[in-house]
Amino acid sequence: MPQYPESPLMGQMMSQPLLISNIIRHADRYYGKSEIVSRRVEGDIHRYTYTDCHKRSRQLAKALANMGIKMGDRVASIAWNGYRHLEAYYAVSGSGAVLHTINPRLFPEQIAYMVNHAEDQYVLFDMNFLPIIEAIAPHCSTVKGFVMLCGREHMPAASKLDNLLCYEELIAASSDDYEWPQFDENSASSLCYTSGTTGHPKGALYSHRSTLLHSYASAMPDGLNVSARDTVLPVVPMFHVNAWGLPYSVPLVGAKMVFPGPAMDGKSLYELFEQEQVTFSAGVPTIWMGLLTYVAQNNLTFSSFKRTVIGGSACPPSMMKTLRHQYGIEVVHAWGMTEMSPLGTACTLSVRQAALPEDAKQAILEKQGHVIFGVDMKIVGDDGRELPWDGKTYGNLLVKGPWVISSYFKDEGGDVLEDGWFPTGDVATIDADGYMQITDRSKDVIKSGGEWISTIELENIAMSHPAVQQAACIGVLHPKWDERPLLVVVKKPGAEVSKEELIQFYDGKIAKWWTPDDIAFVEALPIGATGKILKNKMREQFKDHKLPIA
Ligand code: ADP
Repeated sequence: MPQYPESPLMGQMMSQPLLISNIIRHADRYYGKSEIVSRRVEGDIHRYTYTDCHKRSRQLAKALANMGIKMGDRVASIAWNGYRHLEAYYAVSGSGAVLHTINPRLFPEQIAYMVNHAEDQYVLFDMNFLPIIEAIAPHCSTVKGFVMLCGREHMPAASKLDNLLCYEELIAASSDDYEWPQFDENSASSLCYTSGTTGHPKGALYSHRSTLLHSYASAMPDGLNVSARDTVLPVVPMFHVNAWGLPYSVPLVGAKMVFPGPAMDGKSLYELFEQEQVTFSAGVPTIWMGLLTYVAQNNLTFSSFKRTVIGGSACPPSMMKTLRHQYGIEVVHAWGMTEMSPLGTACTLSVRQAALPEDAKQAILEKQGHVIFGVDMKIVGDDGRELPWDGKTYGNLLVKGPWVISSYFKDEGGDVLEDGWFPTGDVATIDADGYMQITDRSKDVIKSGGEWISTIELENIAMSHPAVQQAACIGVLHPKWDERPLLVVVKKPGAEVSKEELIQFYDGKIAKWWTPDDIAFVEALPIGATGKILKNKMREQFKDHKLPIA
């Protein structure tokens, strides 16, 4: 890490490290009665307060210390969004150890690889993941024990594991007589591996400082805009990029928190939204699809839901319009990545933009948006030279900031920065007002006759067709143009549309040569562990696809 010179005249303000434990301490002291409501893996609804959460987090921290966990040690979690997972967020990081959150939807071999790579000492897991744990345990040599997040009554009578512990017993046996330690704010706090679509996953190792700064910044009105007046339901999982930082930013502002647990289907989510009067939520587009389908099929409306942040992959404009116009929910399109903690940009309008005609406003809101203070970005050509901010020129998107990684855990991948900037792997435009729009991931971009075609734009148009439920576009080999776009479509249940009709639907909406050469109808698209469409799988699936040659 670079060192900076000291001034001969240093400021005279208190020096307090920015530590994660400060957040839960603050939530307890100033918002102690605010509720945390969880749908549990056990099936019921659990409720308690920030004061209860703080108490149990300290009990867990004390138990971990008794189990020999020291500063810098890694403790893993494989768990849904719920109060016990939240306790682990605070107990593990707050005590100076590192919480390694693991995505249960990955293959057991990938999970075992990450546990070994991280050298996890304990693994905390939700009880429905016991089969995964039993499968990986023999391959995890560093793990001293597996802690099942439940009470004694749910522990298995017999298990293949000889080092299985009961979470509630650990808590019960431990007092809350525990003081959060104070240490350097640059100490590691949590670890999240990228999905690793190519090669092994690589770890982003966050620090207390990066997490606290991200929490402050992301809570701002032009970011996630959360406050004590909100009831927040993070749909985005706590096992992927710390649920976009909500387990930190929500207690920081004292808002009520609602955790959906494993029940992520439209019906269960809708019930929780209504019962708990949720005002704000955040998640990837695929999750809203399930919720919106359920709400539409049952002719329902939302009585409290006011605002949602959608990101992780491009939010189709048709989805934005449905949420906004049909249900009165404000949609904020956001962009970020594991390596950025994750928030980089969010799309909200300035006063000047808010006065524009409806179409112009909509066009801006479809972009991934404006940086939040702390993040700096630029687009560059393949020669590394910065490109203009004209909203048209696209290039490789680079970022920097105090919550952007400087290198991967254990220096996997070597020196990843380019002149102090992190290359995101995304291709984007930036307009004169600094609003960024992703055109593609660089590995998904279609290169036709040396020119680039944005798959996101082709997908967004397809998804604005009333018969299209989901669409994804990939490049397929072409004898003359190298690659041409193939659009793969899932139709809405009961809806009909022909190839020709869909191709015609592009007329006048894009340059003629961007129009997909062919359309394939499928029952479902391959979705990865973080709810995103797996284009590498699709490319594999359609590698022999013969395009009609005009
Ligand atoms: P992974 O673990 O899949 O690499 P992340 O969850 O960190 O990923 O995903 C980061 C990537 O997701 C970004 O680099 C970008 O390609 C994509 N992404 C995130 N938000 C958006 C968005 N709003 N629009 C388009 N793409 C997005």
